[in-house]
Amino acid sequence: MGSRCTSCGALHLPPRALCPACYGGEMEWQEMSGQGKLVAFTAVYIAPTAMIEAGYGRDNPYCAGIVELEEGPAISAQILGVDPTKPEEIEIGMPLRVAFVRRGAGDEQHTFLAFEAG
Ligand SMILES: [Zn+2]
Repeated sequence: MGSRCTSCGALHLPPRALCPACYGGEMEWQEMSGQGKLVAFTAVYIAPTAMIEAGYGRDNPYCAGIVELEEGPAISAQILGVDPTKPEEIEIGMPLRVAFVRRGAGDEQHTFLAFEAG
Protein backbone atom coordinates (compact mmCIF):
# COMPACT_ATOMS: atom_id res chain seq x y z
CA MET A 1 0.00 0.00 0.00
CA GLY A 2 1.14 3.52 -0.79
CA SER A 3 -0.24 6.88 0.26
CA ARG A 4 -1.52 9.50 -2.14
CA CYS A 5 -1.62 13.18 -1.20
CA THR A 6 -5.17 14.45 -1.66
CA SER A 7 -3.83 18.00 -2.24
CA CYS A 8 -1.30 17.47 -5.04
CA GLY A 9 -1.75 13.82 -5.98
CA ALA A 10 1.82 12.75 -5.22
CA LEU A 11 2.15 9.04 -4.53
CA HIS A 12 4.49 7.79 -1.79
CA LEU A 13 5.90 4.39 -1.05
CA PRO A 14 6.48 3.59 1.76
CA PRO A 15 3.38 5.55 2.80
CA ARG A 16 3.99 8.90 4.45
CA ALA A 17 1.93 11.00 6.86
CA LEU A 18 3.13 14.29 5.35
CA CYS A 19 3.64 15.10 1.68
CA PRO A 20 7.23 16.21 0.93
CA ALA A 21 6.03 17.86 -2.30
CA CYS A 22 3.38 20.24 -0.88
CA TYR A 23 3.56 19.58 2.89
CA GLY A 24 -0.07 18.49 2.86
CA GLY A 25 -1.22 16.17 5.62
CA GLU A 26 -4.30 14.63 4.05
CA MET A 27 -3.47 11.21 2.64
CA GLU A 28 -5.49 8.39 1.18
CA TRP A 29 -4.40 4.78 0.79
CA GLN A 30 -3.64 3.46 -2.64
CA GLU A 31 -3.14 -0.20 -3.35
CA MET A 32 -0.23 -0.84 -5.68
CA SER A 33 -0.29 -3.47 -8.41
CA GLY A 34 2.89 -5.13 -7.14
CA GLN A 35 4.36 -5.05 -10.65
CA GLY A 36 7.58 -3.23 -11.36
CA LYS A 37 11.01 -3.39 -12.90
CA LEU A 38 14.53 -3.60 -11.56
CA VAL A 39 16.39 -0.28 -11.80
CA ALA A 40 19.47 -1.04 -9.65
CA PHE A 41 20.85 -3.95 -7.64
CA THR A 42 23.77 -5.21 -5.63
CA ALA A 43 24.91 -8.57 -4.30
CA VAL A 44 25.20 -8.52 -0.51
CA TYR A 45 27.91 -10.73 1.01
CA ILE A 46 28.35 -8.79 4.27
CA ALA A 47 24.80 -9.04 5.56
CA PRO A 48 23.05 -7.15 8.35
CA THR A 49 22.12 -9.11 11.47
CA ALA A 50 18.55 -9.87 10.42
CA MET A 51 19.70 -11.37 7.12
CA ILE A 52 22.47 -13.38 8.81
CA GLU A 53 19.78 -14.85 11.07
CA ALA A 54 17.84 -15.72 7.90
CA GLY A 55 20.83 -17.69 6.62
CA TYR A 56 22.50 -15.16 4.34
CA GLY A 57 26.11 -14.05 4.43
CA ARG A 58 29.52 -14.53 2.86
CA ASP A 59 28.74 -18.10 1.74
CA ASN A 60 25.14 -17.40 0.75
CA PRO A 61 24.82 -13.87 -0.67
CA TYR A 62 21.52 -12.29 -1.57
CA CYS A 63 20.45 -9.68 -4.06
CA ALA A 64 19.11 -6.31 -2.90
CA GLY A 65 17.67 -3.93 -5.42
CA ILE A 66 15.64 -0.85 -6.21
CA VAL A 67 12.32 -1.64 -7.87
CA GLU A 68 10.39 1.00 -9.78
CA LEU A 69 6.71 0.16 -9.55
CA GLU A 70 4.48 0.64 -12.57
CA GLU A 71 2.68 3.41 -10.59
CA GLY A 72 5.97 5.35 -10.45
CA PRO A 73 7.46 5.17 -6.93
CA ALA A 74 10.59 3.12 -6.33
CA ILE A 75 11.41 1.06 -3.25
CA SER A 76 14.32 -1.05 -2.03
CA ALA A 77 13.78 -4.73 -1.40
CA GLN A 78 15.36 -8.16 -1.60
CA ILE A 79 15.25 -9.57 -5.13
CA LEU A 80 14.36 -13.27 -5.28
CA GLY A 81 14.72 -15.70 -8.15
CA VAL A 82 18.09 -14.35 -9.32
CA ASP A 83 21.60 -15.66 -8.68
CA PRO A 84 23.62 -13.00 -6.82
CA THR A 85 26.84 -14.92 -7.59
CA LYS A 86 26.20 -14.22 -11.31
CA PRO A 87 25.38 -10.51 -11.39
CA GLU A 88 26.12 -10.40 -15.11
CA GLU A 89 22.93 -12.45 -15.59
CA ILE A 90 20.73 -10.01 -13.67
CA GLU A 91 19.19 -7.50 -16.06
CA ILE A 92 18.33 -3.89 -15.34
CA GLY A 93 14.75 -3.42 -16.49
CA MET A 94 13.71 -7.01 -15.83
CA PRO A 95 10.06 -7.33 -14.77
CA LEU A 96 9.47 -8.11 -11.10
CA ARG A 97 6.46 -9.01 -9.03
CA VAL A 98 5.97 -8.37 -5.32
CA ALA A 99 6.51 -11.23 -2.87
CA PHE A 100 6.12 -11.19 0.89
CA VAL A 101 8.67 -13.18 2.86
CA ARG A 102 8.01 -14.32 6.42
CA ARG A 103 10.94 -14.87 8.73
CA GLY A 104 11.10 -15.88 12.36
CA ALA A 105 8.52 -17.69 14.45
CA GLY A 106 5.84 -16.82 16.96
CA ASP A 107 6.00 -13.25 18.27
CA GLU A 108 9.30 -12.81 16.42
CA GLN A 109 7.76 -13.50 13.01
CA HIS A 110 7.88 -10.55 10.64
CA THR A 111 6.89 -10.04 7.03
CA PHE A 112 9.46 -8.53 4.68
CA LEU A 113 8.96 -6.92 1.29
CA ALA A 114 10.66 -8.69 -1.60
CA PHE A 115 10.28 -8.93 -5.35
CA GLU A 116 10.74 -11.92 -7.58
CA ALA A 117 11.55 -12.30 -11.22
CA GLY A 118 8.68 -13.06 -13.56
ZN1 LIG B 1 1.12 16.86 -1.80
